[in-house]
Amino acid sequence: MPLYPAEFTLYTFRMDAEIIAVGSELLTPFHQDTNSLFLTDQLNQIGIEVRLKTIVGDDRARLANVLSEALGRSGLIVLTGGLGPTEDDISREVASEVLERPLTENAEARRRLMERFARTGRPMPENNLRQALVPEGAELLENRNGTAPGLWIEKDAAIVILLPGPPRELEPMFAAECIPRLKRISTGAVIRTRVFKIASLPESEVDRRIAPIYKKFENPSTTLLATPGGIEVHLRARAPSEAEAEKLLAAAGDPIENLLGDHIFSTRGESIEKVVGMYLMMKQKTLATAESCTGGLLSERLTRVPGSSDFFAGGAVCYSNELKTQFAGVPAALIEAEGAVSKPVARALAEGIRKRTGASIGVGITGIAGPSGGSAEKPLGLVYIALADERGTEVREFRFPGDRARVRWLASQSALEMTRRRLSG
Ligand code: AMP
Ligand code: MG
Repeated sequence: MPLYPAEFTLYTFRMDAEIIAVGSELLTPFHQDTNSLFLTDQLNQIGIEVRLKTIVGDDRARLANVLSEALGRSGLIVLTGGLGPTEDDISREVASEVLERPLTENAEARRRLMERFARTGRPMPENNLRQALVPEGAELLENRNGTAPGLWIEKDAAIVILLPGPPRELEPMFAAECIPRLKRISTGAVIRTRVFKIASLPESEVDRRIAPIYKKFENPSTTLLATPGGIEVHLRARAPSEAEAEKLLAAAGDPIENLLGDHIFSTRGESIEKVVGMYLMMKQKTLATAESCTGGLLSERLTRVPGSSDFFAGGAVCYSNELKTQFAGVPAALIEAEGAVSKPVARALAEGIRKRTGASIGVGITGIAGPSGGSAEKPLGLVYIALADERGTEVREFRFPGDRARVRWLASQSALEMTRRRLSG
C-alpha cells in the first residue's frame, strides 16, 4: 500500500511563485505593471502558479519588508525593476541586505558593461558601475537589450530572480535565461486553460447550471467572470503533461460545454463581434445596420474586427425621426402612430436598411438609453432590436438594466448575439 495517493507524489515538489514589481511610477495612475502579466503567462506555461503580486515603490524599507515576507512563503520570488544605475534603483542593494549576501564587484559583469559602452561609443558614467555589483553567490542573467544584468540568487529553499524593468529587456532575458533554468527544477507540470464565453445568460444562471459539474472537480479549477463582452467560464488544469492536462480539462469541460450548448459563442477566446464576422464570411453574407439609441456602437464593434470590409456593408445612425425615414425608409406615419421606440419601427429600420444597402442582413435598433426620456409605458432601458434577412424578420424587446452606457452596450451585445444565433441556426 503506497503511503500517498499517486497524484500526491507528483505535486510534492511544487513551486509557487510570487512577483514583486518595484517602481514608484507603478503606484501612480499613469503606469501599469505589465511585466507581471508577461511573467505569469511564462510561468504558467511551465506549470508554475503565481500566488501573489506586490507593487512597491522605490522605497528601501518597504521593499525589504516585502522581500523578507516573501522568503517566508514562496519558493520562487521574481522582482522586476529597480536595477538601473541611479540612486533610486534599490532592488540589488535591498536584495543583498535581506538575503545577507554582500555586494561585490563582479569582474564578468564589469567587463560586459565596459564592452557594451565601448560598442555604442559612449563614455560610461561612473554610476553605471553599480550595475556590476552582484550579491555573493548570484548568477548573472545576460541582458542583450540593456546594461543591467539580471540576477539569479538561491537562498535556502528559495529562488530570487531580479530582472530589469523595461519590458524589452525583461522579456527576452526571462525567456532565454530563466525559463530553461526553471524548467530543470520545476516538476515539469503544465497548466492548460479552457474558456467558454456566453452572451445570452446572466452570470447567476450560468453558475446555477454548471456548478453541480465544476464543484466535483478540484483540478481543473473553475472561475466565472462577468466581463463587458459576456460571461466567461475559465477552467484551469494542472498536470505533469499537456496530454494529461487536456484530459482533465475534457473531463470537466465537455459536460459544461454540452450543458451550455449554443449559449456558448466562443471556446477560443474570440469576441462576439469576431465570431459574427467569421459566420458572415463563412456564409458569404453581408450585414448593414440602422442604429438609433446605440449611435453607431454596433457598427463600431463590427469594424473592430480586422477584415470587416468583407462582411460589413455599412450602417446609418438614424437618431432623429426624419433620418429614420430618410436613411432607412421608415414611414413617417408609422413613427407617428407607434412612436420611435416600438417594435414596428425596429422592424422597419432593419428591413429598410437591408433594402437600401442590398446587404444580406439588416439590423435595426431603437430604444431609450436614458437618463431621461422614459415613461411608465416605455421605461428607461427599453430597447427593440430587429434582424431582417431573406427568411424574414425577428424583433425582440429587451429591458436592460443600468445607466446609459450600459444600456447602449447591452443593446449592441444583444444585437450581435441575435445575429450569431440566426447565422449558426
Ligand atoms: P527600472 O528597472 O526601475 O529602471 O525600470 C525602467 C522602466 O521600465 C520604467 O520606467 C518603466 O517604464 C518600465 N517598467 C518598470 N517596471 C515595470 C513593470 N512592472 N511593468 C511594465 N513596465 C515596467
Ligand atoms: Mg524604477
